[in-house]
Amino acid sequence: MQFVANRLSRVKPSMTVELNNKANALRAKGRDVLVLASGEPDFDTPQNIREAAIKAMNEGQTRYVPGKGTPELQKAIINKFKKENNLNYSSEEIICGVGGKHIIFNAMMASINPGDEVIIPAPYWVSYPDIVLLAEGSPVIIPCDQINNFKLTPELLEKNITKNTKWLMLNSPSNPTGSVYSKEELTNISKILLKYPNILVLSDDIYEKILYEGEFHTIASVEPKLKERTLTLNGVSKAYCMTGWRLGYCGGPKDIIKGMNKIQSQSNTSTSSITMAAAVEALNGSQDFIDIHNQHFKERRDLVVSNLNKISGISCDKPKGAFYVYPSCKGCINKKTPNGDIIKTDEDFMNYLLESEGVAGVHGEAFGLSPYFRISYATDKKTLEDACNRIMRACSKLI
Ligand SMILES: *Cc1c(COP(=O)(O)O)cnc(C)c1O
Repeated sequence: MQFVANRLSRVKPSMTVELNNKANALRAKGRDVLVLASGEPDFDTPQNIREAAIKAMNEGQTRYVPGKGTPELQKAIINKFKKENNLNYSSEEIICGVGGKHIIFNAMMASINPGDEVIIPAPYWVSYPDIVLLAEGSPVIIPCDQINNFKLTPELLEKNITKNTKWLMLNSPSNPTGSVYSKEELTNISKILLKYPNILVLSDDIYEKILYEGEFHTIASVEPKLKERTLTLNGVSKAYCMTGWRLGYCGGPKDIIKGMNKIQSQSNTSTSSITMAAAVEALNGSQDFIDIHNQHFKERRDLVVSNLNKISGISCDKPKGAFYVYPSCKGCINKKTPNGDIIKTDEDFMNYLLESEGVAGVHGEAFGLSPYFRISYATDKKTLEDACNRIMRACSKLI
């Protein structure tokens, strides 16, 4: 007797979750493991935001609220898009969800018919292809070269467009590479998209504020003609250190937003009323801590990049945003470990790092581009320094 639905066979569990489980199992056995696999800031949610939540609770904001957001939150979101992104959305063009991931899930469920293709540049955020598969779409993965900072080029985009293309996914600054699209690069991608009026764009801007150099740009404001078919996604998880609070939001085409509203009304109803009150404070309150956090992130980035580049077999670009590096381990492939095992893939390499030195990162295959690995530097400098030393020791033993 098979109890589970056929649709589950289309998707796999998150590889990052599996990796964390493995690292924790080693820890339970008493091993000293440094986990650099986490996709969240290590700072606490700022105090003004936490206090806004407590106040909301004490004032009785504890009942059902609209899935689109409380009126105060809708206003804060519309104002944020206008002020920071030069995007004018009406309240019919915005919606909230239980995190950015949920927004992507509902957008795909609201728009994809079986056979619709979604173009996903690789390396990509682990959840994109599986969400598309759950919605019965077909992910079309485009490997993007390190030479181009792992970014999609207009040529590659056009080559992969078919009559079934429904969406293009863009993510800048990127998880896992930290790469940032310039205004010029987005303009060039827009030129291709303008030739194909049926393609929607999902712009995942969740790392907008975690930026060390240059300026942030989002495609709907770079090319206003694309605004009517772009879903501009953002949230409070990364910028405001609120991963556990669960709030994402977006602006986009009215009919898709309406569809997402329908799905939400028959599933989770809304995210928490308390979280919405906290998010109003996050968006409207002081933004001063963002620069302070970024200063820490930048120092950690510089430390990790310079230490990794000292290791023979590893090479690491210096990304402009987010809190990840995506180094190549090409120089370690086909080498032999002290146990006599040959390292054939980035997964073998990460297993070797975990087992020999207790360093847990995520292998590149999970993000669709090998041979690389992702290190999250959202942790303290001492841990990062220790991890780089251990990686160096592990690599020096390879022959
Ligand atoms: C973290 C993340 C999200 C959304 O996270 P939520 O906690 O669900 O808001 C979306 N996209 C990328 C690329 C991310 O790394």
